[in-house]
Amino acid sequence: MRFHTLASGSTGNCSIILAGKGSDQVTVGLDCGIAQRTARQFAESVGASLTSLDAVLLTHRHSDHSANIVPVAARAKAPLYAGEGALGTNSRTSWSELQRRDVEYRAIADRGSFKVGPLLITPIEVPHDAEPTFGFIFEADGQRAAYFTDLGRTEVLLEKGLLDGIDTLVLESNHDVTMLANGPYPSMLKHRVGGDLGHLSNDQTSELLAAAAPTSLKNLVLAHLSLKNNKPELALEAAAAGLAARGLSGVDVVVAPARGPLRESPKLF
Ligand SMILES: [Zn+2]
Ligand SMILES: [Zn+2]
Repeated sequence: MRFHTLASGSTGNCSIILAGKGSDQVTVGLDCGIAQRTARQFAESVGASLTSLDAVLLTHRHSDHSANIVPVAARAKAPLYAGEGALGTNSRTSWSELQRRDVEYRAIADRGSFKVGPLLITPIEVPHDAEPTFGFIFEADGQRAAYFTDLGRTEVLLEKGLLDGIDTLVLESNHDVTMLANGPYPSMLKHRVGGDLGHLSNDQTSELLAAAAPTSLKNLVLAHLSLKNNKPELALEAAAAGLAARGLSGVDVVVAPARGPLRESPKLF
């Protein structure tokens, strides 16, 4: 299995997952909040094609994830897997737009696993201010990967056994609490981001890792970093402290670039 983030953060999110071998190989798109053409180029640069996807997944309705998800599914002629409440809230993801573009919709639900070829996908509902919001666990080729961004609290991920066997974890590390408090956001937005239905701070991510990082973890990708309220070195430092508290060493930790594919982690890909 290969997992490539292509864009990550409030300016747009997009990932691509490849699993299986030979005629069994499948390619799955996850969110597309960046321009379709840009996403296509990023995918090509990692040897994947956004126009031949077997399935398209949507985490939630916020436009940094959903803006171009319908055109991507339409162009690839791939079914769109999303929570029911994730669609229909704006013109770009309206039901009539799906119909007009002839996109097949498939509903997903918390813990309702489904298969795309050899890839087993399990949606996990997380607390965020766009209900429903899902993270995903991916299993194929004897590997397990997970993707969790856009969540205000971590208790879902603390559930016993949920992260067991995960070797690659893409996990939100959105903001530094002090930078957010002293930063340029208006106070309503500060409360939203830092609140229970907002985004994970570096400290929350660190505490989660200290409590629940699985011993199987090899690759940790810190994702959805705020450009205004975080710095990669702060996120990396907090994650390293969490892993150390858990007694884990040898985990490859990187930050997903806001724009462009993650390349610097050969162990991951
Ligand atoms: Zn987001
Ligand atoms: Zn969101």
